[in-house]
Amino acid sequence: MAEHTSDVLIIGAGLSGLVAAQKLIRAGLRVTLVDKGRSVGGRLATRRIAGGVADHGAQFFTVRSPVFQQAVEEWLAQDWVYVWSKGFSDGIRTPDQYDGHPRYATHGGMNALAKHLAKGLEGKAAIHTDVKIDSINQTADGWQAQDEQGTTYTTRALLLTAPVPQSLALLGGLTGKLSAANRKALERIAYVPCVAGLFHVEGDVNLPEPGALQRPDAPISWIADNQRKGISPSAHIITVHSGMSVSQQLWEQPAVDALAYVRRAFEPFLAEGAVIVEAELKRWRYSQPTVLHPKRFLLAEGLPPLCFAGDAFGEARVEGAFLSGTAAGEALAQAAI
Ligand SMILES: Cc1cc2nc3c(=O)[nH]c(=O)nc-3n(C[C@H](O)[C@H](O)[C@H](O)COP(=O)(O)OP(=O)(O)OC[C@H]3O[C@@H](n4cnc5c(N)ncnc54)[C@H](O)[C@@H]3O)c2cc1C
Repeated sequence: MAEHTSDVLIIGAGLSGLVAAQKLIRAGLRVTLVDKGRSVGGRLATRRIAGGVADHGAQFFTVRSPVFQQAVEEWLAQDWVYVWSKGFSDGIRTPDQYDGHPRYATHGGMNALAKHLAKGLEGKAAIHTDVKIDSINQTADGWQAQDEQGTTYTTRALLLTAPVPQSLALLGGLTGKLSAANRKALERIAYVPCVAGLFHVEGDVNLPEPGALQRPDAPISWIADNQRKGISPSAHIITVHSGMSVSQQLWEQPAVDALAYVRRAFEPFLAEGAVIVEAELKRWRYSQPTVLHPKRFLLAEGLPPLCFAGDAFGEARVEGAFLSGTAAGEALAQAAI
């Protein structure tokens, strides 16, 4: 059976895992990143549909902290990201009433940001996609993870960036080795699902500037035209997200019924003569954390270096994942050296 060894194994190559890897490499550590997805990025997700492109996870990001601002300045300078808008309408607000804070998007779709970051790791870290870790064991001086194919990943330090319930499930019986305080802190973290529809439309869709509508508390919380966003030049692909409580209800329903609900809610936005020519459903089991850990990461007590990070640690958004990955990478660099 194939075997990989590293100083730090990062399970999850979403934004937090990728930025943690940058920090760990800079500290001179050998890093392996694994992700079960076909590509890196996790919830920075972009999908091709009907000759077009749609962001179906994170739609944009905002910047509140100087640390993230600095990274975003670099991404702007490299022309990876752009300011999509300075606010969104709820259907009533007009652009002159938007709050003026930049909302950034990525050229080519949000997933491209993760791909750029992964490219920067090439030759410095081992990145394995399409690799689902299904068990973790403790060894004499660290950890060993195993994927579905039986390949083993031996490491001194382990960073888990998957949504926390998935990370805890991976640890299985090892959760019994976590201190009671750590276990309690991790078990209280909770997420909401999001049920999304992607629609290829021929014709126009009635959406306010800049081609999106945001109503956090409504049954449909978000509608965006990826063509007007600038990432789908050759087709109108519309992303529609159900709000939290509707997503929870739709989660239990058969896919066909959930998609029919989202479609019915979206149809009133079609301009006269416009038709939906293709529709797809996407369900996010762990869309956004609603009960968060107050610190940027959790380093388990009394065990070889074992760290939990991601957007459930600090702030439930892209910036939170970035800051968590950064802080976890720095802390693990200390713990693993
Ligand atoms: C529908 C939706 C809309 C959103 N909208 C916005 C928005 O507009 N603005 C904003 O700021 N944020 C938004 N977010 C949140 C944002 O996407 C996340 O905060 C951020 O991308 C999380 O990054 P992360 O690295 O913490 O986790 P993730 O991106 O989830 O990365 C975790 C990775 O772990 C991998 N993984 C899990 N289990 C295993 C395993 N067993 N083996 C190997 N790999 C594994 C997964 O494949 C995944 O790639 C949205 C999220 C969703 C789902």
